[in-house]
Amino acid sequence: MDRAPNRPLKIACIGEAMIEVSHQDTAGAARIGIAGDTFNTAVYLRRLLPDASVSYVTALGTDRPSEMIFEAARSHGLETNLIERRPGLSPGLYMIFTDPQGERSFSYWRSASAARTLFAAPRTVAPGDLSECDLVYFSGITLAIIAPQARAELLAWLAAFRSQGGRVAFDPNYRPALWASADEARAAMIAAFAQTDIALPSLDDEIALFGGGEAETIARLLAAGIGSGALKRGASGPVALDGSGEAPEVATVAEVVDTTGAGDSFNAGFLAKALSGGSIFDAMTAGHALAAKVVQHRGAILPLVEKT
Ligand code: ADP
Repeated sequence: MDRAPNRPLKIACIGEAMIEVSHQDTAGAARIGIAGDTFNTAVYLRRLLPDASVSYVTALGTDRPSEMIFEAARSHGLETNLIERRPGLSPGLYMIFTDPQGERSFSYWRSASAARTLFAAPRTVAPGDLSECDLVYFSGITLAIIAPQARAELLAWLAAFRSQGGRVAFDPNYRPALWASADEARAAMIAAFAQTDIALPSLDDEIALFGGGEAETIARLLAAGIGSGALKRGASGPVALDGSGEAPEVATVAEVVDTTGAGDSFNAGFLAKALSGGSIFDAMTAGHALAAKVVQHRGAILPLVEKT
C-alpha cells in the first residue's frame, strides 16, 4: 500500500455527473448547471478539505456537454485524471420543471450516458487506479448505472482495498427507475454494505427498499457489519450507525426552499469531519449543519461566498 501517513488525504468519488437544465419560465428560458449525487458530494468535500486531493471518477464523451462537465469538475478543484473519455458518447441530462405551486418534477435522459461505460473494457481507468486513496465514496446510483460486470469488479476490488487499509463510504440513494427490479437493487445494496466502513443511507430509501421502520433499519445495518456512519432522517436529523444510537439535537429549517443535494451535502459534511478525526457525533452535527444550509437554497451546490 502506498498510503503514506504524512501526505494530504486522497479521496475518490465514483459516479455520474449530468447536465442539469432548470426550466425558468413559460417563455422557454432555462438555466444550465452540472450536478449528480456523488459529484455534489465531491464538490463539498473539496471545499471542506482544501488540502485534500478529491478525484471525481466517471466516464464522459468528448462532445461539448462532456467538456462542460470536465471543466466544471476542474473549476471546483476536483482531480480529473480518473475520468474516462469515450469519443462518440454523451453525458446524461435532466430537466427540472417547477409548477406554479413550487413543486418540482424531473425528466431524465441518461439511459445511454457515457458514465454507464465506466470500468467497462476497453478502458484506461480501472478500480485498481484508486488504490492509493484513503477513502473511496460511491452510491447506489453509481452501482445502478455501471454494467453488471463492472459492478461486480468494483465490489471485489473494494474488498481488497479495505484489506489494505483503505476506507469505503456508501450512500444507497435508492432510485427505483434505475434498477431492473427491487430484488436486483436489494442484492446490490447488500453487497455494497458488506464492503462499507461508513454507511450514509437515508431512512426513506431504506424503508422503500427493505421495508420495516427505523429500529429494524438500524438493526439490519449493524447486523450487516456497518461500524460507522449515520442514518439520515430528514428534518429530524441523523442517528449514528455505530451501535450507540446517538442522535444530535438539531435545528429544523421551517422554510425549506429546495431539498436537492441535502443528502449529498450531509455526506460531505459528515465525511470531512470524520476524516479530520472528529467523532461520529461531531460528524453528524457537521453534516446536518451543511445540509440545513443547502435546503435553504435553490440547487444542489451552494454558491461560493467570496472571501474579502
Ligand atoms: P435525502 O436528501 O438523501 O433524501 P434527507 O431528506 O434525510 O436525505 O435529508 C438529508 C439531510 O438534510 C438530513 O439528514 C438533514 O440533515 C438535512 N435536512 C433535510 N430537511 C431538513 C430540514 N427541514 N431542516 C434541517 N435540515 C434538514
